[in-house]
Amino acid sequence: MLDPLIIHSNSARPPLGTPREVQEFQGTALLQESEPENFKPEEFLRLGQDPTSITARGAKLFKTDVETYINWRWHMKHQVTTAAEAAKVMDLEIAEQQGFSELDHIFNAGVTPYYMGLMGASTKDSPCPIRLQALPRSEELSDRYGIADPLLEKEHSPVKEVVHLYPDRVAFCVAQLCPVYCRYCYRKRRDNEAGLHFNRTIVDRGIAYIASNPAIRDVLITGGDPFIASDAAIENLLARIRAIPHVEIIRFGTRTPVTLPYRVTAKLASILAKYHPVYVNTHFNCPEELTPEAKVAVENLVNHGIPVGNQAVLLKGVNDTYQRMFDLCRGLLMMRARPYYLFHPHNVEGTEHLRPSVDVGLEIMRKLRGNITGFAIPTYIIDTPSGKVPITHNYVLGRDGEDLILENPRGEIWREKGVLT
Ligand code: SF4
Repeated sequence: MLDPLIIHSNSARPPLGTPREVQEFQGTALLQESEPENFKPEEFLRLGQDPTSITARGAKLFKTDVETYINWRWHMKHQVTTAAEAAKVMDLEIAEQQGFSELDHIFNAGVTPYYMGLMGASTKDSPCPIRLQALPRSEELSDRYGIADPLLEKEHSPVKEVVHLYPDRVAFCVAQLCPVYCRYCYRKRRDNEAGLHFNRTIVDRGIAYIASNPAIRDVLITGGDPFIASDAAIENLLARIRAIPHVEIIRFGTRTPVTLPYRVTAKLASILAKYHPVYVNTHFNCPEELTPEAKVAVENLVNHGIPVGNQAVLLKGVNDTYQRMFDLCRGLLMMRARPYYLFHPHNVEGTEHLRPSVDVGLEIMRKLRGNITGFAIPTYIIDTPSGKVPITHNYVLGRDGEDLILENPRGEIWREKGVLT
């Protein structure tokens, strides 16, 4: 049973959309035809029956029952958005308390109870990697290089929310809401605009743009988080894009398997599978996020033939050591999500405290090679306004006649003969 009064009764995130979009999101209007509020996905219910599970413990922490806790809408309605709400379930560091009060007008905070439940103790010297990603901190107020739109996406958008950088593909930003507002998000500038979430005009114009450009064969549906919509709204969007003859593949960028796995139901996956080829890229950053709940979410997708890739971001204190990255990549393969990209963090404002040196990333990549299957090694990327640049440890030491002088994965010199003929 839903009981919004138990805790966080006034914690609903302030509406970002027009009244129409907010209505749609809240389950009226466009979403009416969708799943009922009390929909209880069996696969998550089973997990919650174990009292030691993250689901059962999270429900207890937030003083609700498991059946309510596995409803993704409940989490969106009970996002933790203030220091007072967060302090009900954990002790906040001073930097976090200040972050909540000083940054609210810059980049809203919002964290699902599920993701809050993954947080552990945190100190200045040993911060919790989950908290670093989701809770505002006073360090965000100082940044020497960060800017609002580091990829100049607005300049690359021929129509609003369609980023067209490469000739054959577009990023279609239909969503604004997210289960968790990641502190390093390079699209945080959109937070200040109202009415972007599944905005009918934006969607109509975007689809018209894609339909009128035969070169576009790959559409990435992103946001915000495009899974924060009803099954019916997602299917409606998919059907319209799939109806465009030149669109070959449809991809989703979503962090819901990480921050709100209950959203990724077998039912949603079965809808996506009707529009194959459909791919999903998600965004795990650290081993603590690889929970049994997340595994169910990923399995729901892959069991429906949807390949799942992972795009991590290298973040100081979160995953900036070899062992942390090794554990992440290994765990991803165990849940059948393939490590795809490791992004060096974008120079987005308020994130300098989270950005490690590129040397750190290069060293991690060098150590991964040879210590884990190549299938588990993501491509390390610096994303620029003109496209993604892969960066790698330099294994080519020189040329000698027809031979190439290489560094092998053990760090030894190797002469590969006759490859320069
Ligand atoms: S889920 Fe994605 S779009 Fe949303 S805040 Fe996080 S990084 Fe940004």
